[in-house]
Amino acid sequence: MKLDGIGVSPGIAVGPALVVEREAVPVFRLLVPPEAIDCEIQRLTRAVEASRGQLKAIKERLRHEVGVHAYIFDAHLLMLEDPLLLDRAVSIIRQELVNAEWALRTVSDHLHELFEGLRDEYLKERTTDLDDVLGRIQLNLGGAPDAPSLSKLPGQFVVVAVDLTPSEAAELDWEHVLAIATDAGSPSHHTSILARSFGIPAVVGLHDATTRIPPGATIAVDGTHGAVVIEPGEPALSALRAGQAERRERPRAEARVLPCVTRDAVRVSLLGNAEFPEEAGHALEYGAEGIGLFRSEYLLGRARRWPDEERQYEVYRRMVEQIAPHPVTVRTWDVGPEDIVPGGPTSANPALGERALRLMRRAPEPFRAQLRALLRAGRHGALRILFPFVSGPSDLRLVLGLLELTREGLRRDGIPFAADVPIGLMLEVPSAAFTADLLAPHVQFFAVGTNDLIQYLLAVDRADPRVSSLYEPLHPAVLRTIDGVVRAAAVHGVPVSICGEMAADPLQALLLVGLGVRELSMSPAAIPAVKAAVRAASVARLEPAARASLSLATAEEIGAMLRRELAEALTAPASS
Ligand code: PEP
Ligand code: MG
Repeated sequence: MKLDGIGVSPGIAVGPALVVEREAVPVFRLLVPPEAIDCEIQRLTRAVEASRGQLKAIKERLRHEVGVHAYIFDAHLLMLEDPLLLDRAVSIIRQELVNAEWALRTVSDHLHELFEGLRDEYLKERTTDLDDVLGRIQLNLGGAPDAPSLSKLPGQFVVVAVDLTPSEAAELDWEHVLAIATDAGSPSHHTSILARSFGIPAVVGLHDATTRIPPGATIAVDGTHGAVVIEPGEPALSALRAGQAERRERPRAEARVLPCVTRDAVRVSLLGNAEFPEEAGHALEYGAEGIGLFRSEYLLGRARRWPDEERQYEVYRRMVEQIAPHPVTVRTWDVGPEDIVPGGPTSANPALGERALRLMRRAPEPFRAQLRALLRAGRHGALRILFPFVSGPSDLRLVLGLLELTREGLRRDGIPFAADVPIGLMLEVPSAAFTADLLAPHVQFFAVGTNDLIQYLLAVDRADPRVSSLYEPLHPAVLRTIDGVVRAAAVHGVPVSICGEMAADPLQALLLVGLGVRELSMSPAAIPAVKAAVRAASVARLEPAARASLSLATAEEIGAMLRRELAEALTAPASS
């Protein structure tokens, strides 16, 4: 069977499917060999016992400390004894040869169906208690040392998921991931960006892959053509397998050291985007001249806990030392409440919610700790601080105020720090882009985040595959906005970098250079192709083409004109 989606990271991979379901802890289906069945049952029994012990302890504590008898926990304890739960899960493990987590999840589905059929509203509402008890067992299963986890995969897998949150991605054992296939997503979504930066084939926007792909089934992911084949036949499989060798090719050394200059000697800096500190070295291998965007929120990891100041200081210091003499641009926390409270309330529309600086207004402490760590690490190399999701001058005041308070705090504590760390703003909210002239005099650089800028300008959700064809980087509104930013910044001598996915596409990158951009930051794997295009182009040709694009009406017309005008540069081989 073939599923069609959107190919977002090229290449082909074939392997067993690891189907991940998202609950309080991610739960996935694994096929367990018959000899390991007893071990799964023991794990489940131990997790139930641990849950029983915890519930009794909570009940006792409430009785002693608060003096109340917590009847609700009696009910929870009774649920643990119910044969519908443990016995049923054990028989699912035996019959379906699946892991304990999945058996528990199946039991939960059955019980939910049962409860939904009930007439009694009071009983219906008991599903919350049911979820509480089952969630506790899942957590105890996950906490056990022998639990399978996303960070320690028992083999090479194709990960099939609804989506991957930054925290799941941070935990994932990428070395054992052959490919990614997700129900949600679009080319500019974070999962896609990550897959490209790891050079792992990925297909997103598959809608219902998690329900249609059986656990352990052999699947082929064709990230070039946007297809997933379940149980491909032998001839198809051998053709696809042959393609696997192309994965993770590094650029040749000579291409890496070639300078990125146009034919008419205009220098363009190409930097790498990184989600994990370890990626910094990886970016250098592709010839990156620094890190133009470090998405620091990945440091929250699966526990979704703010890392403390000392740990951050060590991470940032190591990165700047490793990348020296090039710069490392650290973006401050770009998170919303849903990213930091597992299972907590989520915004109906996180992209427009209490994200980043908005969260900082209410809870500044984690932001202050991050700024302290950054200002301290700034003494060890060329660090730059980048603030995301700025919406205009009042946000800028907030940022500058917090920075000043942080510097004062460090002075008071007698802790050495760099007073002159360059401060930059991400222009990704239209209201900030349109007030760039008011922002520029107060900062040292701008980084245009085209991934979000496009979604907000065009009102197209970058994570929703149903509207991904409307997500148009070459839309005239996008190009005019970038042009306006570049012009406003030039008046104040503020450099503009582009760190969204537009920078990673050779045609769009050339257009950006034509608009006057001289720094591009992208997934490191994209650097060789962009460098080849820049080296084969001349600004004398790019500028008129970019100017012409500003007066055309549609993305199609603009794309066709650029492909025609820049054909020569776009067909240059990667090592030239
Ligand atoms: C952007 O919005 O363009 C960007 C680079 O940041 P992110 O993709 O992390 O939102
Ligand atoms: Mg963004």
